[in-house]
Amino acid sequence: MLLHLFAQVYPGESMKKTPLITIIGVPNTGKSTFFNRIIGARKALVHADPGMTRDIFKKAFDLSGKKFYIQDSGGFFQDKDIISEEINKRIFREARRSDLIIFLFDGKRELLGYEKDLYLEVTRINPDIIPVINKVDNPNKFILPPSYYSLKRDLIYVSAEHDIGIDEVFEQIEKKFEQYAGREEEEVQPPARISIVGKPNVGKSSIINSILKDDFVIVSPIPGTTRDSVDLEIKWQKKTVVLVDNAGIRKLQKVKEGTEGAAVLRAEKDVKFADIIILVLDLSKKIDQNDLFIAHQVFKAAKPVIIAGNKWDLLTGEIDSPALMEKINRKFNFLHFAPILFVSAKTGKNIFRIIDLAIDIQEKLTIKVRTPALNQLIRQILQEKVLHTQDERIFNPKYIVIESYKPFFINFFTHSGNKLKSAHEKYLKKRIGEELKLQGIPVFFKISSSTKHKTQ
Ligand code: GDP
Repeated sequence: MLLHLFAQVYPGESMKKTPLITIIGVPNTGKSTFFNRIIGARKALVHADPGMTRDIFKKAFDLSGKKFYIQDSGGFFQDKDIISEEINKRIFREARRSDLIIFLFDGKRELLGYEKDLYLEVTRINPDIIPVINKVDNPNKFILPPSYYSLKRDLIYVSAEHDIGIDEVFEQIEKKFEQYAGREEEEVQPPARISIVGKPNVGKSSIINSILKDDFVIVSPIPGTTRDSVDLEIKWQKKTVVLVDNAGIRKLQKVKEGTEGAAVLRAEKDVKFADIIILVLDLSKKIDQNDLFIAHQVFKAAKPVIIAGNKWDLLTGEIDSPALMEKINRKFNFLHFAPILFVSAKTGKNIFRIIDLAIDIQEKLTIKVRTPALNQLIRQILQEKVLHTQDERIFNPKYIVIESYKPFFINFFTHSGNKLKSAHEKYLKKRIGEELKLQGIPVFFKISSSTKHKTQ
């Protein structure tokens, strides 16, 4: 709803490498016929790629003088056996590293439940996706099965077998890559530095190792900003982030962690050079003073935060996730803006979501909300609910200005300059965060008197 409020700065996208297009779909949607049609329609350059897996075919083709790779990912399987799961896992990985996905459906039948789930999951992994309905052999007589309306997307109709509609696919591909070319001119943001902090033994190194284990993470280590850290530049979903391994060097040098207290004190340094902080907790243990102390250091850094509850695999029996989340929320009340993820470095569960979220946050950090739009939003919130200052006056700011974006600091000018009641301040911050979709990014307020001269 509020997206129009933003003037978005897109991070630059490198066009040096040949773009990769992946065809995905459930079995029998006509993927290989479609693949051959694309290749056959263009001068195919048979490409031998030693890195390619045996059962995923990849070929190069030319479009308006530009080279593209296209690959057929093979069928996605519904079965839950190990082999099917392995194949499906690889399809997701291919989706992640592709520049564009062509998702093929079978127009001769309704959309299947698991097919829709797969489509949505792939869209989440990689939103650059063109949905194509195949087997539309007679476009004039074709009636789209109603279940496809639930996809809420513009669809392209083709018949791979009868060579109908393929040109439109090529047009869409060209269009997609023209958009990228336009972005090249724009400002390139340095990748965000993600620092993982927490008490000893909560699983920080295990989380880093689990991230690095993913075959499609491409890592290049660069010296860190402190003597105690290594920067790991990782490529993920075509984006780059820097993972700061605070413990890496310490472990390599076999330097003892020392006491827990010392580790806790070090957190301050570990957050200093970060853009995004991952606060790790051990879900199998009680949250204690040291967790809280580190969380306070994290809060004081005034940076985006994600809370990762690790060792999720150790929790047994019925786990009431909302209740657990609520408990963590209560304990870390001051980090109310931070999304909470339950993860397991041991099984790998949800580990990639940490990076997904960090990338979302990284992109949000480049978005600038305009002051008039923010004014409009806050006035709207204040109309819906009356908020009070600590001396029980109605909070009615005369004007509102954005002091800074990093951190996101809003200055309210009111008659008295009195602070908001703490519950109301939290409410307003939460609403602003929700409306602007700032998940993970803290919002800070300053209330100033509009009648006094600014002397401080
Ligand atoms: P760090 O000091 O925070 O870097 O913690 P480590 O990564 O060294 O992990 C501490 C211990 O917890 C090790 O024995 C790990 O094998 C174990 N561990 C880490 N993550 C998990 C997890 O998700 N599940 C389980 N069961 N054990 C874990």
